[in-house]
Amino acid sequence: MATYDELRAAADKAWKAVEAPSRPLFIVSINTSSIASGALDTLARLQGLSLGDGFDVMQTGDTGFAWMEPVVQVVKPGGESILYGHVTASRAEAFAAAALKGVASEHVIGSVSGNVAGVPALADSEWMRIQTRWIMANCGVIDPDNIDHYIARGGYGVYMAASQTDAEELIKVITGSTLRGHSGSFFSTGTKWGFLRSAKAEPKYLVCNADEGDPGAWVNRVMMESDPHTILEGMLIGAYATGATYGWIYLRDEYPLAIERMNRAIQQCRERGIFGDDALGTGVRFDAEVVRGAGAYVCGDETGLLASVNDGRGMPKIKPPFPAQSGVLGMPTNVNNVETYASVTTLLRVTPETFSTAGTEANRGTKLFTVSGAVARTGCLEVPFGTKVNDLLAAAGGIAGGRAFKAIQQGGPLSGLLPAAIAGDLPLEPEPFRPLGAGMGGGGIVFLDDTACVVDMNVMTSIFLEDESCARCTTCRIGNQRMLEVIRRAARGEGDSTDVDRLTALGQTMQYSNCFHGSLSPTIINNTLKYFIDEFNVHANEHRCPAKVCPALIRYRVVNNSPKVAEAAPICPTQAIVQRDGAWQIDDVKCIRCNACRDVAPDDIVVEDEFQGVIPVRATVPADVARSG
Ligand code: SF4
Ligand code: SF4
Repeated sequence: MATYDELRAAADKAWKAVEAPSRPLFIVSINTSSIASGALDTLARLQGLSLGDGFDVMQTGDTGFAWMEPVVQVVKPGGESILYGHVTASRAEAFAAAALKGVASEHVIGSVSGNVAGVPALADSEWMRIQTRWIMANCGVIDPDNIDHYIARGGYGVYMAASQTDAEELIKVITGSTLRGHSGSFFSTGTKWGFLRSAKAEPKYLVCNADEGDPGAWVNRVMMESDPHTILEGMLIGAYATGATYGWIYLRDEYPLAIERMNRAIQQCRERGIFGDDALGTGVRFDAEVVRGAGAYVCGDETGLLASVNDGRGMPKIKPPFPAQSGVLGMPTNVNNVETYASVTTLLRVTPETFSTAGTEANRGTKLFTVSGAVARTGCLEVPFGTKVNDLLAAAGGIAGGRAFKAIQQGGPLSGLLPAAIAGDLPLEPEPFRPLGAGMGGGGIVFLDDTACVVDMNVMTSIFLEDESCARCTTCRIGNQRMLEVIRRAARGEGDSTDVDRLTALGQTMQYSNCFHGSLSPTIINNTLKYFIDEFNVHANEHRCPAKVCPALIRYRVVNNSPKVAEAAPICPTQAIVQRDGAWQIDDVKCIRCNACRDVAPDDIVVEDEFQGVIPVRATVPADVARSG
């Protein structure tokens, strides 16, 4: 097997063709977001073009600019490099011709390197200037399927240096860095590694939790699709530090590209002697494989995940025993998530001293966040811990369409729903969220504008949580069912003044569930009752939806018999827009409240409260009666 120095020398040659190409190089971002925007067609189109003196084409992973996909970077001999967006296949030829000749102005995002007249520096853009890209250093830069690119940029050199350090000392460095689990648990990574190292039984195992299931979160997907070796190197460092000899990457089946790239990266490690009986000649034995998860949300709990790795049903277990005592195959096991393993490699690469210059005292370093929802720009950013939510929102271009910022739903359905007045000033680190009755979660932040209805959001999250309960505990299984029933009643105009007490009592009971799924399921409902009680009460007691969203509480009506309504009629999916006696009307029985007609005729079709003034407000039930109900 080649030595690390020999691998590095060969890798440097391969990387030179990217860093200093002899002719223009078009680098197309191929990731799940870009593929949804047609990037594979763009790639094929560019590869099939023959223009000027020719150019080369390669793929990269995810640049984080999801709203600009398909994204293409053009590197020219001499060092000039520009990032472009919205390069669809149909525009690829005109784009390539313009980019080869000078600058494809219509597509410019910013210059990556070199001063190009009229092209703003990417680093100065709103999106980039709040970012510190350490964990994402290779994202959108290297070809994730090319291990040489990774090695040429220092990859596996971090492991080589770490393996020269005493393992106990290495764990102390990780602990001292303040690195904690980026999945949302925020438990000290070094402490966890210490538990596994001190476990007596052998063999010991590592598991990488790649079961990213929070709606609105795709930070781990970005890493796996862009830089799989940074994750594998973190696992290899973990193996050296803890004495583990095998690893499993538990990866949800909904991420097929990540599965493909992680599997390819593992195979490359085996072929180059990085994985095997003697990792790069350091005497460490380690290998790993991908386990495809079926997408059960409760496998985010490490005991549920381990049950699934063990070929069982993904049901969380009561602890103890903890995974460090009994995990995969009953042996001592450590579980960290994708971003945590990547952060280990990162903090040792940038050095713990530099790592500690970013973030806060309690949480040094950086964290990935994905922003989505009502923002102008959707994508993935890496910012220092402690960055304010409002700064993230500004980077995302603010709330789209100039609407008001209403709330955030951060960290998935177990982490909470916070109003803009509180959320905006929150520093992004776990501690400030806890006194608010919420969590920060693993990195997904969904922004809501003033057209969103919190009760409607509760219906969606409650359906999800009830569906995802593994049903082991009565508190969680029945508690989630009852909560969903109450929320649905409120959204249908069938609630009453007893609902707040009923939901509060259910939330208190569910604290005693076995795992975090049950105990945290009431979080969004509790936040709603605390921060959005007026909006909830209008639904429950007055049977109205102020945001005009809850389908049972609104109806669509034609107010102007205009040609726009005639235009809207054919796009109605249920043919609910009908003509009677020469006038357009909406058949309320057929209307599914999809709002498509208002995209075409916003001034001629209105949304009205269904029940306002039609159904009398229910009588208030005395509190003692309510509690007994
Ligand atoms: S709390 Fe819910 S998800 Fe967790 S073990 Fe109990 S039933 Fe399963
Ligand atoms: S809201 Fe949707 S279903 Fe109802 S009338 Fe408009 S287009 Fe048709």
